[in-house]
Amino acid sequence: MKMKNTADEHPRSKLIIASNNRGKLREFGELLEPFGFEVISMRDAGFNDEIIEDGDTFEENAHIKAKAVFEALGVPTIADDSGLEIDFLNGAPGVYSARYAGENATDKERCEKVLEEMHGVARELRDARFVCSIYFICGEDDEYSVNGTVEGYIGDKPLGKNGFGYDPIFMLDDYESMATIDPAEKNKISHRAKAFQKLAEILKEKFNA
Ligand code: IMP
Repeated sequence: MKMKNTADEHPRSKLIIASNNRGKLREFGELLEPFGFEVISMRDAGFNDEIIEDGDTFEENAHIKAKAVFEALGVPTIADDSGLEIDFLNGAPGVYSARYAGENATDKERCEKVLEEMHGVARELRDARFVCSIYFICGEDDEYSVNGTVEGYIGDKPLGKNGFGYDPIFMLDDYESMATIDPAEKNKISHRAKAFQKLAEILKEKFNA
């Protein structure tokens, strides 16, 4: 069945972000504002079900979230999933990034766990990347998936106070750690920024913005 209320027929139509994370909602809101969407969180749209993110990849998890909300509400929906992949750990923490040191662990504890696992590992084996997948369901059979990555390596101690998550132990060639970078700069070079830019290209083409 083709949806009637697709975003391209109604430029001011609602767009749900399948997240209740304030930071993500703000970032998506800023990105999507120029396209004339009314951006709302899934909770504000009345979706309170738990979504089981049991995909093997970031893309699968983003799809699972976007699909669950789109099927419940019938409104164009965007979801994202992101995390850290470390080559030496065969891609871990990967889709388990948020709960790598247990459900209630802190960012600091997650970083410490990774540092322990990487203890004594030579620089050339410390390569890692942040990955962000964004999935946009605009209507029935009208779906888009984009990815962004930023390459770096795992340091041997935490550095910097900005950012969140694994930023203090993620080193970049042109900077120190991701947590030493000014937030505005991170928003230009990050995995999320790169995925956002690709989504923006799709939206520009689709909505002639
Ligand atoms: P989610 O996309 O909200 O599920 O986030 C997954 C987890 O990946 C976060 O809890 C962080 O631990 C990690 N992560 C994702 N993006 C970043 C980032 O930009 N910096 C540091 N850690 C990140």
